[in-house]
Amino acid sequence: MSKRPWGYQPLPERADPQWDLHPDTHAVRAGLARSGFGETSEALYLNSGFTYSSAEEAEAAFADEVDHFVYGRFANPTIAMFENRLAAIEGAEFCIGTGSGMSAMFASIACMVKAGDHVVASASMFSSCYVVLTEILPKWGITVDFVTGTDPKIWAVALSKPTKVVFIESPSNPMLEIVDIRMVSDLAHKVGATVVVDNVMASPILQKPLELGADVVMYSATKHIDGQGRVLAGAILGKNSYLQEHLSQFVRHTGPSLSPFNAWVLVKSLETMGLRVERMTNSAQKIAEFLESRPEITNVRYPGLKSHPGYAIAQKQMSGGGSTMGIEFKGSQRDAFKFMNKLRVIDISNNLGDSKSLITHPASSTHRRLSPEVRAEVGITDSVLRLSVGLEHSSDLLKDLEQAF
Ligand SMILES: *Cc1c(COP(=O)(O)O)cnc(C)c1O
Repeated sequence: MSKRPWGYQPLPERADPQWDLHPDTHAVRAGLARSGFGETSEALYLNSGFTYSSAEEAEAAFADEVDHFVYGRFANPTIAMFENRLAAIEGAEFCIGTGSGMSAMFASIACMVKAGDHVVASASMFSSCYVVLTEILPKWGITVDFVTGTDPKIWAVALSKPTKVVFIESPSNPMLEIVDIRMVSDLAHKVGATVVVDNVMASPILQKPLELGADVVMYSATKHIDGQGRVLAGAILGKNSYLQEHLSQFVRHTGPSLSPFNAWVLVKSLETMGLRVERMTNSAQKIAEFLESRPEITNVRYPGLKSHPGYAIAQKQMSGGGSTMGIEFKGSQRDAFKFMNKLRVIDISNNLGDSKSLITHPASSTHRRLSPEVRAEVGITDSVLRLSVGLEHSSDLLKDLEQAF
């Protein structure tokens, strides 16, 4: 007898499981679980609960003796398609989808730590992640040390004592600082730490932290994975041992669940993510080179530019510079605002990784929660802008930037 309820019996796998399929093929095929109707596109199961053919079947489902969906907070067929597809692209043993990038970030660390534990993090990061590490976890007796992510000596000192979790954001938002993931993972594993990488800025296309030695990867799927400004979502990926020992119980009972509708949007988005990120990266490279040549700009931070201090490491661990860059204006916040207001194609927004090109003034918006001292330390001055390059034609974006100067 089938272990799955009627209608969910997947049609036979057509691809030979022995084939080593390319990630581009996984992006449109992996995780696809067709219902008995044989629909081409992934089905949307917009339901929270599931029924059983008998009381005995319900008992067996709860005892984990049969493979049966139980409740939307634990799993759902559409969410499972998204999770299995992203896991195949990433090369991870598991993926858990979450309702936002922040719930993914919080769960990935909170599931592991208890009072008295020690966390080490690179200092340049998205401001909500910084609030979790400096304001929320310390309330529960967890100590967090911040290090200059680019300095191996400082990492070595910080990781000379027992550490539970190391958290890295590379490239960082918004200054695109590059941390050597292999170097930090090697040091972290010597003291028994689990390495979590926020891979949002690189996307699953340009950097594979698990291949570089990291243990866990997290995403805001709101960014390049959806990439079209529609849904808020997150994902956590890694090894089955981490899922079983830490994460599974935490997410089941604290409930950072992804909505099936959003999962359906995302599973279709994964099909085009590679194309989108490749196009954005090609345009961003051209735009970064153009901006670097302008007298109005003192500094362009983009991992694909030779002038980037982390260029050599970026070449080693990323396959492209990404969609996003930090731009430092010659002049004041007023000059930077004037420039933003003059743009006609590029929108003013706090998002990134979108099909629409977006410009942000981090110090007054996304990163205003950081104190002026911390902002200065990580290079977010009042004249810094973050540009996320979208899918418009690069010649129009260059024209727009040129006329705004
Ligand atoms: C946006 C972002 C997050 C948070 O994701 P949400 O989906 O907005 O909750 C975390 N890390 C980085 C680097 C981000 O850019």
